[in-house]
Formats: sequence, structure tokens, C-alpha cells
Amino acid sequence: MTNPYAQLADQALADQLPDPTQARWVLDGKDVELLPLLDAAFKPRLAHFGRSVSIHVLNNIQNGLCPEDCGYCAQSKVSTAAIRQYKMKSDEEIFEGAEAAAKGGAVRYCMALSGRGPSVQRAQRLGDLIARLKAEYGMEICLSAGIMGDEQAKILAEAGLDRLNHNLNTSESHYSKITTTHSYQDRVDTLAAAQRNGIETCSGLIIGMGEESEDIIEVGFKLRELETPSIPVNFLIPIEGNPVTEDGSLTPERCLRALCLMRFINPRAEIRMAGGREGNLRGLQSMGLYPANSLFVGGYLTTRGDPFAETYAMIEDAGFEVAGQGKGDRAAPGFQLAGQGALLRPDVAATPE
Ligand code: SF4
Repeated sequence: MTNPYAQLADQALADQLPDPTQARWVLDGKDVELLPLLDAAFKPRLAHFGRSVSIHVLNNIQNGLCPEDCGYCAQSKVSTAAIRQYKMKSDEEIFEGAEAAAKGGAVRYCMALSGRGPSVQRAQRLGDLIARLKAEYGMEICLSAGIMGDEQAKILAEAGLDRLNHNLNTSESHYSKITTTHSYQDRVDTLAAAQRNGIETCSGLIIGMGEESEDIIEVGFKLRELETPSIPVNFLIPIEGNPVTEDGSLTPERCLRALCLMRFINPRAEIRMAGGREGNLRGLQSMGLYPANSLFVGGYLTTRGDPFAETYAMIEDAGFEVAGQGKGDRAAPGFQLAGQGALLRPDVAATPE
């Protein structure tokens, strides 16, 4: 009998898609063993990205005040989540964020704005900002700014935008259960406008929103069809006040299987273990680095994440390297136990005379 793990790895290394039965088996197969599955997904990851992990820092430069109704989002018009709403940050604040990201070793600075999408005027302001950020910090600049057409995409491309993020989030068939104020096709069209104007695309999904395995498979294949070089895989963060909260499906194993599936379907893409990794993968986060090769550090749009030092330690403890930082650039952390110093005091301590 053919080894199903070796078959998946070989197909991915040959850029061959898994068939729907294989894809379903990766997510739901009762006889799937996690370690051989992670090992199989690691093979194409190692071939295309070695052991490097690229670090992205997200700056939410406009929060809330959004006319859209995405059910998983605390910024939507239908969420009652207690978020601090603010209009677009000043250039100074945005540059401060970039400075901190650059100092923290980030290779990419991702700016995100709430809202349906930028007007031409707003695209011009963003373009000016992007050009100056690139000149100042030399980092790759990403933008997530909602639905747009060729006019806005052209302005951003001419300003030097490296990547436009616009997640498909879920499958076409599941989309209207999550969002009704814009369509799945609006998102596909925005990605097409970016590609037509020479901007690299970044588009991913959120799992744990009541979807079926078929929906995760469908969006994975769609991202391959769209030749998406960067795929954030988010694990729903249940936020008080949001209509869409957890559906009970997200176990660390389910999250790891989904990451492996995205790697098998998109072997050459940058797969990001994105929002919700801390709370959904918990102690198994570092295993996610076998299929995935990038992370966000320092938090998400409206929720915190693990700090830089903790995330870097997790990466290096698992034998991976922070991209752009050679092995050993950072001092090995040595013995660490929560709440304890580097030298432990015995618990069964001698009572002082
Ligand atoms: S995901 Fe974006 S478009 Fe949707 S509600 Fe949130 S900020 Fe608005």
C-alpha cells in the first residue's frame, strides 16, 4: 500500500494538487497520525523556505467605524465589542510603528484599515505614505484596505506597495453566512485588480466560523487557482460582542491539519500561522512551523498576541530561524520557568536555622 503521507509530500514537491479525497482525509481522516502528517508538510516547506520564519508586524491604522457586517470582526457595524474606534492614524504614529517593527526585526510592515475600501483620494494618501516608509525603513510594505478597483490599485502599485492583503476568509458557498454587505466576488475582483496592476497578493482564510471541511478545501483550492503567494491562516478569535464566535471545531490538531492542507495545496506559498494561533494552538504552536513559514508578532487588529521575545524563543527552541536574523544572532535564552529567575530555588527548601 502506498504511504499516504509520502504521496502527499511527493505531490506537493512536484506542485501536484492533492485530490479532494486526499484533502478531506488530511482534515478529517480518523486514521491520520499528526507527526507523519507534519513531516510530510515539512518537506515542501523545507524545499521552498528552509527553516526560516518570516516575521510580520501588523499596525491597525484605522479601527472600527466600518459599514460592513463581517460577523467575525469587532470593527463591523454589527459588533457590540468594546473597541476603541479611531480614524486613520497620523503619519507620525504610523512611522513610529514602522520604526518599532524595523527594530524588532520584522521583514514586513502590514498596515490595515477598517472600512469597505479606499477612495481614490485615500489611495493617494496611502501611496504617499508607502513610498516614504519604504524609503525610510527598506522593509516590505503590505496593505489591507478593503475592496478596490484598478484606479486605486494603480496608485498603490506606482507608490511601490509590495503586497495587498485581502482575505477570501471562507468558501463562496459559506460566505453569505459570515458577511452580507459585500460579496465573495467583490473580494476575488479586488485581488484581480491588484494582480493586474503588478501588486503581489496576500489572501487567506479564517477557520472555526461554522464552516464544513469542504469549505476549507474549497478556499484552499481557490487560493491556488488565484496563484496567491501569501496565505494567512487565521483561527477564529472569539470576541465578546461579535455575531460569529467559536463553533467548537478548533482543536490544536484541527488547526495543524488545516495548516498542512494549505501547504499541500499551495506548496510554494508563504503560509502564515496568523490570528488566533496563541489561543487555539496553545502548547502546539511550534509544531505549526513545520507546515507554516511565517507569523505575525506583537498582536492582531483588535486583540493582543504573544510578545516578540516569547515568539522568537518559540521559533528558535523548535529549531527554526527568524528570517533576516542568522542563527545565534540572539543570545540563547537558557533555562526559563514562568515566574522564576535563571537559577531556581529548590521547592523543598531547607528551613533557615
Ligand atoms: S473585516 Fe474589514 S470590511 Fe469586514 S467589518 Fe472588519 S474592518 Fe470592515
